[in-house]
Formats: sequence, C-alpha cells, structure tokens
Amino acid sequence: MQKFLTDVHNHSTFSFDGVSTLSQMLQTAQTKGVAFYGVSEHFDFDMLFAHGRAHGGTNAEEYFHFARHLQEDYEGVMNVMIGVELGFSPDPRVLKRNQEIVEKYRPDFVVNSIHCLRAEDYYSQIPFREKTCEGVDILRPKKEVYKEYLALVRNSLDVSYDYDIVGHIGYPSRYAPYKDKKMSYAEFAKEYDDILGTVIAKNKILEVNASNNGASEFVTFVGEDVLRRYYEMGGRQVSYASDAHSTDSILRKRDEVVEMLKNIGFTYITVPRRGEYIKVEI
Ligand SMILES: [Zn+2]
Ligand SMILES: [Zn+2]
Repeated sequence: MQKFLTDVHNHSTFSFDGVSTLSQMLQTAQTKGVAFYGVSEHFDFDMLFAHGRAHGGTNAEEYFHFARHLQEDYEGVMNVMIGVELGFSPDPRVLKRNQEIVEKYRPDFVVNSIHCLRAEDYYSQIPFREKTCEGVDILRPKKEVYKEYLALVRNSLDVSYDYDIVGHIGYPSRYAPYKDKKMSYAEFAKEYDDILGTVIAKNKILEVNASNNGASEFVTFVGEDVLRRYYEMGGRQVSYASDAHSTDSILRKRDEVVEMLKNIGFTYITVPRRGEYIKVEI
C-alpha cells in the first residue's frame, strides 16, 4: 500500500452547478499533486423531469465523449476516473434512466446519492416545510424530515444498477433551518445501523464528503460519530471527496479528514476504478 492524494467525486461545467471546466479542474488537480482524481457529474433525473434540464441534466453523450479524451491525455500523469453521481429517487422512471446511464456509458465509478425529496432539492428548503389543512406554511419537525431522508438512503442501497460509493449521508443537514442541524448517530442509531450494516454487507464504499459549505465548524457528510460506529461494526471502506465544483475546492479539508479517519482507526482510503477497489494508505 502506498500514500497518494485522492479526490474522488468532483464536478465541472458539465454539471448544471459546476463553475470550472473539466480541463481546468484536471489541470489544477494535477498541479496540486492528486494521484487519483474522480469526476462524477450530476445525473438527477427526478429534477430533470420536474424542473427541466437547467437543474438535473448533464449531457451524457457530450460528457463521456469529451472526458474519455481528456482521460487519455492524462494517462501516465494522473489517474483520471470518469464517473457519475446518480441521484436516487424511488420513481421507477428515474431508476430506469440511471440504469441506462450505467449500462450505456460504463462509468469508471458510480456515486449513489440523494439530493431530493419528491423531486425538490433540500437546498430549496421545500422538503423542510409543509402546509397545514388551513393552508399555513409551517416547518416540519427535524426528527420527521431526517427519518424520512434516512429511509430514502436505506432504499437507495438496494438499487438494481451497479454503484460503488454511498454519497454524502447527511446532506439535508447542510441546508436545514433547525438550530441544531446535526443528523447525529445518537439520535438516529437504529436507522444508521441498518444503513451501515447494508453498506458493509454489500461491500460498498462510505463517502466522507468535505463540502460543508459555509459551516463554521469542521463537519463532514457522513459525520464523525457515524464513521466511528461504521468502524466499530467492521466497516473499513471509505472514500474522500472534496465534491469540488470549482478549482479552488479541490482537496479541500483533506488533511483534516485524513486526521479524523486515522483517529478513528482507519488506515486506508478506498478508490473505486472499473470494479477494482484500490487501497491507498493514509
Ligand atoms: Zn451530491
Ligand atoms: Zn457531488
């Protein structure tokens, strides 16, 4: 096992919310010394169906064509992995489209993640609110919203298409309007145990995502308390993701993440590449 810089799960302007181009992202990653760089553009078909291309859709044909060329250009220089971030939804139309992406384009790795509740991104605040019978808009209780999200995460693990990484568990807490936003292990132990046990049983990789936009303290998705429980249950496969959408965020907080992982007991990060799981020492 060798030490390398890894950053698996990043975006570019192929994604609707990307800022830097893929060429710029790869160039910066190489300059920063990244050895394994994973691109995973957004495919959120529930958003696409509900709100149009501006929200969910990467043009798969253009993306894979262009990205595969760039991947060749970097051969022998940096391991570039061309992947996808597939937004999960229980909607059968979404599952079918996700399956088609995996089968048609054979991405080097797949991140299975959740951004939406009923085709509304948690970012929009809509999943946190509801209308009373009198039509008054009120805040939903945290416990209810988070339990519903964790049930979705649990369902997402059973999709029929191949995936490698379970992306950013805890994502709603980034945007939650609650005073205490944390989706802690203590509060949702039963739900987390079910999820973590399934991740281990299915031999998947649990993502440690450092994109805690704006949070003053150091928070990762999934959180440290949950990672501790995962380790205790025998889970060893974790990945590091900056989830960068612009060049300046590549490798963000990687040192802190590695420190945290080492403190828990982890000795390596797992990099998925075309079905092979590469162990990289930390
Ligand atoms: Zn995501
Ligand atoms: Zn992402």
